[in-house]
Amino acid sequence: MGAVIVDGKSVGGKILEEVGIEANKLLGSGVEPHLSVVIVGDDPASHVYVRNKERACQKCGVKSTRIDMPVESTQDEILEVVRGLNSNTDVHGILVQSPTPNGIDELAIASAIDPDKDVDGFHPINLGKIVQGNVSGLLPCTPSGVMHLLGVSGFDTIGKKAVVIGRSRIVGMPMALLLSQRGVDSTVTIAHSKTEELRAICQDSDIVIAAIGKIHTVKSDWIKPGAFVADVGISRTSDGKLSGDVDPSVADVAGWITPVPGGVGPMTIAMLMRNTVRAARNRAI
Ligand code: NAD
Repeated sequence: MGAVIVDGKSVGGKILEEVGIEANKLLGSGVEPHLSVVIVGDDPASHVYVRNKERACQKCGVKSTRIDMPVESTQDEILEVVRGLNSNTDVHGILVQSPTPNGIDELAIASAIDPDKDVDGFHPINLGKIVQGNVSGLLPCTPSGVMHLLGVSGFDTIGKKAVVIGRSRIVGMPMALLLSQRGVDSTVTIAHSKTEELRAICQDSDIVIAAIGKIHTVKSDWIKPGAFVADVGISRTSDGKLSGDVDPSVADVAGWITPVPGGVGPMTIAMLMRNTVRAARNRAI
């Protein structure tokens, strides 16, 4: 028996529909949800991501504006743009597309965004709320997308062992916090590049979240039969295709697996749209 393929495209599509309804209601009350995306430089992958976000905005009736900045922009120039968006009352969500060019301090940029407009959920205040057990705010999109997929799959997380492979500020760390929050109640191991015996840790885990960025690192003999495996990784192979961190053979052993593409990626965008409409609603009330 192969794993259930967790269809992030379809689940994300439903979220976009709900967001569309909410956006329409807000519009009816005179508030047009508005996401502003800043993109610095001409990294082709970033431009694809931004276009996908613009498309999602169109789909659910969220206004989007895009600010293109040249690759040689300084940190101060980017901060100036962010401050302008902070004080623009028409804008509800601000996102500075990552990666920014070398020399730009992304942490400083994330910290400069008004936490109420921080639809990526990367501001220290929004990340700090998760540590406090408050998950009602603007949550980082990728980890909250994975949580949503666990929920719709009906996977019982309570008391289960989870391993999050990767400890980044935007995926791994908030993912581990969300899995261990009260009500989800998993027991979480955070693994990273220096972790020893990663295979054994995975073999002992009911939930494996791979957020590494290295193609097909997680192999089928790492996986406990019936485990929930979420593949966050997105890398491009030499022939231009998208590939995840999880080897395709894992689908023969796992109980659930998220595909790449079509798994966590569309959920990230859906959660971004949800955050944007939430930020607009919070402003309206
Ligand atoms: P990152 O480079 O910041 O972090 C990678 C993490 O993997 C690090 O903590 C590192 O310690 C760990 N790692 C590296 N090699 C390892 C190994 N051999 N064994 C165990 N751990 C190892 O990356 P990130 O921003 O967290 O992104 C991770 C991946 O997820 C990338 O492929 C990225 O493109 C993808 N991503 C996807 C989405 C999405 O929407 N699906 C969103 C964000 C990131």
